[in-house]
Amino acid sequence: ADSFGTLSERLNSAWSALKDEDDLSVENISLPLKDIRRALLEADVSLPVVRRFIKSVEEKSIGVKVTKGVSASQQLTKVVADELCELMGGFGGDKLIFRKEGEGPTVILMAGLQGVGKTTACGKLALFLKAQGKQSLLVATDVYRPAAIDQLKKLGEQIDVPVFELGTDFSPPDIARSGVEKAKLENFDVVIVDTAGRLQVDEMLMAELLATKAATRADETLLVVDAMTGQEAASLTAAFNDAVGITGAVLTKMDGDTRGGAALSVREVSGKPIKFIGSGEKLDALEPFFPERMTTRILG
Ligand code: GDP
Repeated sequence: ADSFGTLSERLNSAWSALKDEDDLSVENISLPLKDIRRALLEADVSLPVVRRFIKSVEEKSIGVKVTKGVSASQQLTKVVADELCELMGGFGGDKLIFRKEGEGPTVILMAGLQGVGKTTACGKLALFLKAQGKQSLLVATDVYRPAAIDQLKKLGEQIDVPVFELGTDFSPPDIARSGVEKAKLENFDVVIVDTAGRLQVDEMLMAELLATKAATRADETLLVVDAMTGQEAASLTAAFNDAVGITGAVLTKMDGDTRGGAALSVREVSGKPIKFIGSGEKLDALEPFFPERMTTRILG
């Protein structure tokens, strides 16, 4: 209900056309929709996604009767908020999918470009799962950057979660496979694989990721996306999803000054849910993603 209030207030002037209408029509929603379009762009939703969203809200609004006791602008805001929430996965959001008891450890691959917060997210996730009583094994496979292996080991020490590594002489799929074997033998609940990050999407990275996914029979392939990259987040997600098939995303750096529109873009271009958001450098700064909360944030 909060998002109705704030958005209605913020956009008050443009909504005057909607004051005493009995139902929503092409004419009376056109100005307010322009404002919603602007609000979404300001929130970093990518342009093609904004276009599709506005079109869909338009289709859903036209002919809608304004309920007694609410204003036409509140009615339109409700259509917008509902649609936004729905597109981001619906109330409550999507959770991680775990293997059943006796089926071995759940394998989660963490993928993404360098600098987005991938390695940090591996540590955060291990800590999050630990709080739920699940013991993780972290696996370092970034053989191109020994510093990344050290970074993961340091994170593991901080949260008292073991880190498996084989240095830089083996291929990432081989290291990941060995990590999963070890986790099976030692009855870990979850294996979190920190995959190699690159500065840009390239074919080798994708081929390697695909091989790692196959070698580990990964249950989840989560793309770690920097929420601050706004428009770019959409094309990046589409590229990763087309090439390797992600099962979801982790949106990091939500503590920055973005309103989080990347959440909508990521979901819209891939059809895959955001499962977590990261909102700080500390390892406890990870929480499950709730579409309804993000709706309020995006609408401002
Ligand atoms: P990677 O190259 O993708 O593995 O990125 P790192 O995990 O090394 O993180 C890159 C930088 O971003 C580090 O300085 C992290 O502390 C920082 N970082 C990671 N997640 C967040 C976050 O949610 N918020 C903020 N503000 N910084 C983050």
